[in-house]
Amino acid sequence: AKRDGRNACQVYTAQVAPLDKIRVGLESALHHAMERDELRLAYQPQVSVVGQQFVGVEVLLRWQHPVLGMVAPNVFIPVLEDTGLIEPFGEWVLRQACRQYRQWLDSGEVSPNSKISVNLSPRQFRQRDLGQRIRDIISETGLPPANLTLEITESTLMYNLEQGASMLTELRRMGISVAIDDFGTGYSSLAYLKDLPIDYLKIDRSFVKDIVTDHNDAAIANSIIALAHNLGLKVVAEGVEDADMLERLAGFGCDQYQGYFFARPVSADEIPLLVSRCA
Ligand code: C2E
Ligand code: CA
Ligand code: CA
Ligand code: CA
Repeated sequence: AKRDGRNACQVYTAQVAPLDKIRVGLESALHHAMERDELRLAYQPQVSVVGQQFVGVEVLLRWQHPVLGMVAPNVFIPVLEDTGLIEPFGEWVLRQACRQYRQWLDSGEVSPNSKISVNLSPRQFRQRDLGQRIRDIISETGLPPANLTLEITESTLMYNLEQGASMLTELRRMGISVAIDDFGTGYSSLAYLKDLPIDYLKIDRSFVKDIVTDHNDAAIANSIIALAHNLGLKVVAEGVEDADMLERLAGFGCDQYQGYFFARPVSADEIPLLVSRCA
């Protein structure tokens, strides 16, 4: 039994070692990614009422490595988070995004009441001076705070509810909107929803994916929308891939939609054309 145990252990380490190496490799490559200009932002439109009105975009980080090619966010974001690199990278994303949106607003490319949504990682959200950092970026880029939404997940918020609540209050005072991302997938108490200054719930794609065929998913999506509306929140559905999904969600009274059915995440220069097609 002992020998078996040791063998099992060897098998385990043999499998883990290469992954560790990959991780260390990714980590050092990521250290250079910013200075080597390998980071890009992708923008995915959000629309309201059956694709007729453009309401904003979500910003998604892209890493184009010269050898590895396009690395998926699900691979490199966790490395950024673990190493703390997410703090400078996330700040870069926010600054670039605010600058870009200010330009689109100035040139009339996007409507004055539309918003840019930026993801905040758990580690970023826990930064003590986050409020001041955001204030600096807002004043430096000149983006009206009313045109900014920050997306955080339930677990980010639940990590330290007291600190989270005071950060949300600070953001609200600045005039920034807050969306709870991937709603329904984390462990959380619904009680926080009524007390915190939150503006949007984003229904996770896992509930939208099979909404047409799966009664349980449909029931969950329907309930999330009803709950949100009763609490005075708006709902954004993510991962809307076809007309049937849209029809279902619209039937439940969903407010805004995001997904491949409308547009994939695209580079900045493709946004003006997409927006002009919407409105
Ligand atoms: P998320 O915040 O839930 O972002 C939505 C993801 O769904 C994006 O994946 C988007 O490309 C994808 N998506 C949108 N519509 C559809 C659809 O119709 N079908 C399908 N199958 N997928 C769709 P992406 O760009 O790969 O990003 C994955 C995750 O990486 C994001 O999930 C977010 O958690 C994280 N992420 C991306 N950019 C940033 C960033 O700048 N900061 C932080 N902290 N996290 C980021
Ligand atoms: Ca998001
Ligand atoms: Ca999401
Ligand atoms: Ca998601």
